[in-house]
Amino acid sequence: MSTAKLTIDLTALAENWRALDARTGCETAAVVKADGYGLTAGKVSLALAGAGARQFFVAAAEEGVAVRKALGPGPGISVFSGHMEGDTALIRDHDLIPMLNSVDQMLRHMENLPNGRFGVQLDTGMNRLGMEPAEWAALRDIALAQKPVLLMSHLACADEPDHPMNRQQLRSFIEVTANNSVPRSLAATGGVLLGRDYHFDLTRPGIGLYGGRPFADAKPVVSLSLPVIQVRDVAPDETVGYGNGWTATRPSRIATVAAGYADGLHRALGSGNIALYAGDVLCPVVGRVSMDMITVDVTDLPDDPGALDILGPHQGVDILADAAGTIGYEILTSLGRRHAREYVT
Ligand SMILES: *Cc1c(COP(=O)(O)O)cnc(C)c1O
Repeated sequence: MSTAKLTIDLTALAENWRALDARTGCETAAVVKADGYGLTAGKVSLALAGAGARQFFVAAAEEGVAVRKALGPGPGISVFSGHMEGDTALIRDHDLIPMLNSVDQMLRHMENLPNGRFGVQLDTGMNRLGMEPAEWAALRDIALAQKPVLLMSHLACADEPDHPMNRQQLRSFIEVTANNSVPRSLAATGGVLLGRDYHFDLTRPGIGLYGGRPFADAKPVVSLSLPVIQVRDVAPDETVGYGNGWTATRPSRIATVAAGYADGLHRALGSGNIALYAGDVLCPVVGRVSMDMITVDVTDLPDDPGALDILGPHQGVDILADAAGTIGYEILTSLGRRHAREYVT
C-alpha cells in the first residue's frame, strides 16, 4: 500500500518563529516537546536554530537528549518536568537545564549536580507544575544563592485574551519573582500575543511555530496528501462504509484514500464533518473513517484523482481539530508514523 505523504515546510516554521520573535523585545525560545509537536524534534530544532533560536524546551529529559544530538553543544535545552528520579546522568551528560518544580526536585538537583544549571518553575494558579508561592517563599533565598538561570511560570488561559486569569497570573508572577535579577519567562504562544506585559526576558512559543491557533497569522507548516487506492461508482440508495454510514442520493464516484484513524485522522472526522481537496476543489468525506481508509465523494471532479489533500493551504490543523472536537495540538501530535515524511526548505 502506498502511504500518505506528510510534507513539513521548514521555511514556514522558521518564518513563524521569526514572526513571533518580532512581536517581542526579548529573547524567543522554541518549544519542541512531544517530538517537535509530532513533526520530529531533531529536524524542527535544527530549522529553528537556523532561524535564530538559542533556547529550546522539552517535556522530558529523554526528549532533551534527542534535541541535543541534533543541535550539538551550545544551545540551551530546558526540561519542563525538572529533575526527576533517574534523570541525573541524562542532564549531566547532555547538558540539559531542568526547570525544578518542587522542594524534592531542588534537593535532588543540589545533591546530584551541585554545580549544574537549573531554572525554577513557579505555579501562578494553573496548579499543574511548579512551586506554590508559599513553598517558593521558604526556599527562595537558598535557591537564588545557587544562581538559577530562569524563573518561569505558565498561563492557563492565554488563548482567551480577555480571560481574567491572564491578569491574575501576571500579577502573581510579578509578585513571586520580585526583587532579583534572574531572567523570567511567562509566555507561550498565547502569552506572546497578549502583549509586552507578558513577555519578560524570554518567551516560549510552541503551537504558533507549527502553524496553529491562537497565532492566527501563522504560515501553514504541514500538508498531508492521501493516495487514492481505488474509485468506484455508487448508485443512489447504495451505502458506503461501516455501519452503512452514508447513503448515495445521486449517481456518485467514491474514492477510497489510504489513511485513517490509525494515522491520527480521528474517527470523529467522518461523514459530513470534513472535506478533502483535489487542488482547490472540495470533496466531502462520506461514511465513517476506518483504521486505514477514508471514503470521499469525488463525483464533481472531471477526472478521478490520484491523491487528495486533507491538510494543506485550504485546510489547516485547526479546521481538522474543530471537526474532530479537539485542538490543533492533538491533530499534530497524532500525525501517524506511517506517513512518508518530507521536509522542504
Ligand atoms: C507546551 C508549553 C509551552 C508552549 O505552549 P504553546 O501553547 O504550544 O505555545 C510553553 N510552556 C510550557 C510550560 C508548556 O507546557
